[in-house]
Amino acid sequence: MLKIDMHTHIIPKHLPNWTEKFGYGKFIFLEHNDNGTADMMQGGKFFRRIEENCWDEDVRITDYQNFETQTQVVCTIPVMFSYWAKTEDCVELSRYLNDHIADLVHRYPKNYIGLATIPMQDQYAAIRELERAKEIGMVGIQIGSNINDKNLSEDEFFPIFEACERLGMAVMIHPWQMMGFDSMEKYWLPWLVGMPAETSRAACSLIFGGVLERLPNLRVCFSHAGGSFLPTLGRIEHGFNCRPDLVAIDNPINPREYLGKFWVDCITHDIDALKYILNLQGSKRVCLGSDYPFPLGDLEIGKFIEDSDLSAETKANIFSSSTLEWLNLDKKLFV
Ligand SMILES: [Zn+2]
Repeated sequence: MLKIDMHTHIIPKHLPNWTEKFGYGKFIFLEHNDNGTADMMQGGKFFRRIEENCWDEDVRITDYQNFETQTQVVCTIPVMFSYWAKTEDCVELSRYLNDHIADLVHRYPKNYIGLATIPMQDQYAAIRELERAKEIGMVGIQIGSNINDKNLSEDEFFPIFEACERLGMAVMIHPWQMMGFDSMEKYWLPWLVGMPAETSRAACSLIFGGVLERLPNLRVCFSHAGGSFLPTLGRIEHGFNCRPDLVAIDNPINPREYLGKFWVDCITHDIDALKYILNLQGSKRVCLGSDYPFPLGDLEIGKFIEDSDLSAETKANIFSSSTLEWLNLDKKLFV
């Protein structure tokens, strides 16, 4: 059975020292260690230690063979977005990352599919890089759940989503710059509490802001099974019904109507939670995702689904059909 993991992160082995080159900011730089690991440095501060499975395409393919998964959809690590940078610098950085992924996709067309990063802080530059990304073989983009703390419903982002729809580029929404980060750093709460809330923030913004309504052919996938959006949909719908003066001001349609019109990955680490999400979304809108190679991901690449009592059809949809439809790709390209 074809398996495509649609939520994985990759980074080039070497990054230019953009902080030094541009003369400001806290761009990510990689310092390689003798033991084969590398430290992601943010400005001069340690951010995260990563291993060769973060950049080595062959190590990754071998790792995936252990879980009978042939294909990885790759995108950058959200900390690389750099939406806070000057537009022209973010364009240079985005092009560097996108060219790396495009090259990988060209060399391993059955193993890798690419999502680009674009400078969301400037709609004109963002659309130019989106168009270029399509030309070099990318099939979509990954963007943050907020853009410099602005919600995705802000008018300035609409032309970008419109261009994605027009160009047939899929959109993956990934939590980053988590709300409340500074006040809850202890216990890894930004990742455990902030990330699911961020994804719900993005989903609510796109729905209540009418973006999904106005762009019915825009193909959006929310990370981490939609974060807290689906588990708290009852509350969200109730809020829409009881305080339409606050909630329904830009879009009069009940949020529940959008179920099955967007995609989510399956990263729940909990088969019962996944079944609840399958009930809401239908199996054609739930995709195999792992968040490889990071520790909070499902590093057995959907083994909990393989081992479950879900039907063969549901498993086939999750493992590849849903992702192929989200990305508008033909299965024949991979078999
Ligand atoms: Zn991720």
